[in-house]
Amino acid sequence: MRIETRLAQAGNRKDPVTGAVSVPIHHSTTFAHPALGQSTGFDYTRTLNPTRKVLEDTIADLENGVRGFAFASGMAAIACLVELFEPGDHLVASNDLYGGTYRLLEQILRRKGIETTYVDTGDLAAVEAAVQPNTKALFVETPTNPTMKITDIAGCAAIAKRRGALTIVDNTFMSPYFQRPLDLGADVVLHSGTKYLGGHNDVLCGLLAVKDEQLGEKLFFLQNSIGAVLGPQDCWLMIRGLKTLALRMEKHQENALLVAEWLSRHPQVTKVYYPGLPHHPGKHMHEKQSSGYGGMLSFEVADESMVEPILGSVKLISFAESLGGVESLITYPARQTHFDIPKEVREAYGVTDRLLRLSVGIEHYQDIIADLEQALEAARSEVSVR
Ligand SMILES: *Cc1c(COP(=O)(O)O)cnc(C)c1O
Repeated sequence: MRIETRLAQAGNRKDPVTGAVSVPIHHSTTFAHPALGQSTGFDYTRTLNPTRKVLEDTIADLENGVRGFAFASGMAAIACLVELFEPGDHLVASNDLYGGTYRLLEQILRRKGIETTYVDTGDLAAVEAAVQPNTKALFVETPTNPTMKITDIAGCAAIAKRRGALTIVDNTFMSPYFQRPLDLGADVVLHSGTKYLGGHNDVLCGLLAVKDEQLGEKLFFLQNSIGAVLGPQDCWLMIRGLKTLALRMEKHQENALLVAEWLSRHPQVTKVYYPGLPHHPGKHMHEKQSSGYGGMLSFEVADESMVEPILGSVKLISFAESLGGVESLITYPARQTHFDIPKEVREAYGVTDRLLRLSVGIEHYQDIIADLEQALEAARSEVSVR
């Protein structure tokens, strides 16, 4: 079945007793044993819960993997995943990684003797050069947050495979609707389900999917041992959100392209980062490995002094962190998502003090553009008054 069908049918036919079309929420933390040495397949909810299992099977299926895992947040998923590594191991990661992942790698993993080298993973020669004998994984985001840099997933996976390392892809921005890294050679795909998969800014979630049974068994052990699992109510919200993922991604993308084109023509906007724009670096590579451009874009305004008035003037678009929900959101990466990354480091890859990031929602595109227009106008007049 095609992905639209699998999404719409998520959770259906999982309860043959009642025929429930919407998957039941199993709140029970424990499950009675039929007899000594017997199990219904469910014993204790941290290990396995029927509602969570539906979500975990769904993400495995959507990513064309064999095992899926659901966690209390994207960071909980990443924190569990990196427990695969030992002191003395080395990782190579995209240099404009999500700020929270960077913080985990730098402030927690490094303390435990696991070091990460950051490179432009869009440059395979740089990836190759960064790999050491003790490199255990490449950690890739494509497109990156917020400058939408593109990495060749298959190219990275080939380098990792030759060195016996894993390829991990954070697929939050594209979702499995537009991009399926496991098909391109990656070993682990991860999501902040909080974003597009949940899609309504109302549930925090992290998801992992793998295509190798043995790796799946290791992650199952870690997930149960560490215990940062997603609760059954939130699993249900995720399944509910996934049902409309295809429709939402199409609309996010349609709106994002129109907004990106409009911004590119605006005299106060000096740069627009969106992989659907003709001049976007890596566009060709992106089109080879993805079937869409998504709903995220960033833009640079002419002067840093415009940022505060823009954030203060938007009326429809909310000035809020996060992304991927039906409501349009605007953020200021330098002070929010990328605050933990040193200024010289972030500026080197384009996260300047003039950069704003937009998560384009599914409202009417003309209303989104009208809001940006009045906010840019308010900023321009405030700047010229000063
Ligand atoms: C939000 C985000 C995360 C972290 O997920 P949480 O659900 O907020 O813990 C990781 N990677 C990317 C790309 C994200 O956008």
